[in-house]
Amino acid sequence: MFDHIRTKARPVRWFRAVHDPTVVPKHALIGSLACQNKLPTLDNLIRRGLYLANQCGLCEKANEDVKHLFFTCAYSAQVWTQVGNWSAPLPLPRLLDWYMHYNKGKARGKNLRRVSLVTAIYMIWKERNARIFKDVKTSPQSLSIKLKYAIANRMYYCDKGRMDKKVAC
Ligand SMILES: [Zn+2]
Repeated sequence: MFDHIRTKARPVRWFRAVHDPTVVPKHALIGSLACQNKLPTLDNLIRRGLYLANQCGLCEKANEDVKHLFFTCAYSAQVWTQVGNWSAPLPLPRLLDWYMHYNKGKARGKNLRRVSLVTAIYMIWKERNARIFKDVKTSPQSLSIKLKYAIANRMYYCDKGRMDKKVAC
């Protein structure tokens, strides 16, 4: 019965990366909500009936939705570029295709890229919320440094088989 009532969101291409045991659970939760377009982004809040101006919480120059916020926003693009140069040297337009087609398996490099993707989504969301609710802004360069630290920290514990350890971010 419930299946008939609920609307089924089409899983996005990077859905599989979110549900990987190497990913920190709280990062996976935000990634999962982003995959299903269930995060309270401004476009979703407006769709639910709230009267709000739709302006990206990061760049303040475009409408805010999942695709813009995490992938096409100028702020996020700078973060992806810096992290990509370090962990997954791929041009941004090809990044999602690559996750869809080539990032299967348990090799360390593939785990690293999955962790990078989901951790980046988590931290970009956290930055967006800090700007909106606390009026605190972190530059893309500083966020990239924090992100690299969080990714390296997680990979360290994954390498040790201690995926229950928390990541400071
Ligand atoms: Zn933006």
